[in-house]
Amino acid sequence: MLTIQENVDMKAFTTFRAGGAARYFAKAESVEEILEAKSFAREKKLPLFFIGLGSNVVVSDAGFEGVIVKLGKEFSHFKFEKGTLVAKASTPLSMIARMSATLGFSGMHLLAGIPGTVGGAVVMNAGAYGEEISQTLQSVKILDDDETVKTFSLADCEFSYRHSIFQNSKKIILEATFQLTPGNSSEMILAQKKIMEERKAKQPLEFPSAGSVFKRSPAGFPGALVEAAGLKGKTLGGAQISSKHANFIVNIGNATAQEIYDLSELAKEKVFENSGALLEKEIIFLGKF
Ligand SMILES: Cc1cc2nc3c(=O)[nH]c(=O)nc-3n(C[C@H](O)[C@H](O)[C@H](O)COP(=O)(O)OP(=O)(O)OC[C@H]3O[C@@H](n4cnc5c(N)ncnc54)[C@H](O)[C@@H]3O)c2cc1C
Repeated sequence: MLTIQENVDMKAFTTFRAGGAARYFAKAESVEEILEAKSFAREKKLPLFFIGLGSNVVVSDAGFEGVIVKLGKEFSHFKFEKGTLVAKASTPLSMIARMSATLGFSGMHLLAGIPGTVGGAVVMNAGAYGEEISQTLQSVKILDDDETVKTFSLADCEFSYRHSIFQNSKKIILEATFQLTPGNSSEMILAQKKIMEERKAKQPLEFPSAGSVFKRSPAGFPGALVEAAGLKGKTLGGAQISSKHANFIVNIGNATAQEIYDLSELAKEKVFENSGALLEKEIIFLGKF
């Protein structure tokens, strides 16, 4: 049976380590428990929000007047056979990226530095260094809003850059199947090592964040645009537009969710004034800002 807790601080469940509480919070370990959470939210007439690792989400300081559900450890398993990988939604992406390289299969190894779960990565169509999760994905098992389990093909997912049909939808990712290609294990492990070093050198991984604030824009790299607008290093309370990489906002000490949001808005406004580019946020701000 599902345990539903009240007023649970989301700082511990988001990588920014900032923000407020979920009015209700539950860890679901089965489809039945997800259905329980859905009916609880329906009874209370509250919105429902699913999180993976919370590495792309900031919850308002005022909290989220709804039910936040995290899929628990029963959803963190994978099977790998002859290049076919079936991974449940809570499986860490970095773990399968590393495992695939070690076993000599390519297609996912460059995703090793993305700190999310398979579910979150499918929703966001996460990607790095020329690889995107959608490139190897074959199908996704979801729990649809009508409470039936369905299988979505790659085409059904409508993937594009950092976008999928699952964003702002009521479809819950349960599992995804990927087809990987045989490759040279030691070359892939070396490539992984190189990109991890590059990330460490270029990204402010020493501070809590949610990765890139803005999506890539036709006008150029958001980091360069924010820097050109003179905002690199700009600080607001405990939040800062990183002085290492201007497309990151970092929590340099007790940042509030509002400070993070306000800095992102300031960056968007100043970039527009300075270069005419309209940046789109990649980070999801949940609740009232
Ligand atoms: C240091 C750092 C570096 C990063 N680098 C990259 C990068 O290189 N490339 C990149 O693409 N991203 C990057 N990110 C962002 C983030 O890690 C990715 O977007 C990741 O895929 C999010 O996964 P998550 O499990 O944390 O999802 P969450 O942040 O928890 O959720 C993201 C979205 O997915 C939804 N969701 C999550 N699980 C489910 C589910 N089971 N069913 C339905 N909806 C669900 C949520 O509702 C939300 O809308 C980085 C983040 C950090 C902190």
